[in-house]
Amino acid sequence: MIRIAIANQKGGVGKTTTAINLATALAASGFRVLLIDSDPQGNASTGLGIERDARGRSTYQVLIGECSVDEAALSTRVPKLDLLPATQDLAAAEVELADLDDRVRRLEIALDAAPPRWDICLIDCPPSLGLLTINALVAAKSLLVPLQCEFFALEGMSQLLRTVELVRGRFNPGLAILGVALTMFDRRNRLSEQVSDDVRAVVGKLVFDTVIPRNVRLSEAPSHGLPALIYDHRCPGSEAYIALAREVIARLPAPAVAA
Ligand code: ATP
Ligand code: MG
Repeated sequence: MIRIAIANQKGGVGKTTTAINLATALAASGFRVLLIDSDPQGNASTGLGIERDARGRSTYQVLIGECSVDEAALSTRVPKLDLLPATQDLAAAEVELADLDDRVRRLEIALDAAPPRWDICLIDCPPSLGLLTINALVAAKSLLVPLQCEFFALEGMSQLLRTVELVRGRFNPGLAILGVALTMFDRRNRLSEQVSDDVRAVVGKLVFDTVIPRNVRLSEAPSHGLPALIYDHRCPGSEAYIALAREVIARLPAPAVAA
């Protein structure tokens, strides 16, 4: 199972929107996908229509070792897409895990023990570089960074890259950056163009060719508990996530692509 962390400690940059819609596009391409909601806000769970009282066991129970990934994973309305939901108690995990020797490897250990039910696992991280995000970076093979096309886009990127270096050095030498996805691109705003050029100048080929446009359908879909790809599969946002999924598949290591 290829594990991809979707992380950026900046809030509201499109991590969850990317996680839900990329997961859906990958599932539609034939991959069996597990989306792990690792954010106490539980936005990925809500956005996939899993109501709070339907969440049962969650990422929190998996991290503290109360149940396995297999036991906690729920199916969603999207064929081939399963979800490990998040509940608010996940916020306590950062504190509860703090004293454990294997605190940064809890998710990795749980995923290593999972049966081969899925080809790809996406991990939606919270907007911080705390223990939940570190667990995702330690468990993952690759990192996908959503970057919002706004003035401070690159601010925080160097801190994120320092964290990646730290994780590589101490816990996960194989962690690769799969790519940077520019989100909320607004054609009518010259700043978007400028930011896109600046990011490409700094981060170079890591930036995906596909740019996710600002599209109201993407922001409406979660309130219907649906990925935009199902809510309106022909809107520009959905089309962009389908294109991004193609680029992601092209960058994946060979075994996943053969799945
Ligand atoms: P957080 O850091 O709080 O977890 P996030 O990085 O996961 O946030 P999202 O929740 O995906 O970001 O997006 C933030 C808000 O912007 C949401 O209301 C979402 O619906 C909206 N949004 C995300 N991407 C787009 C887009 N391309 N066009 C329009 N709205 C978008
Ligand atoms: Mg989010």
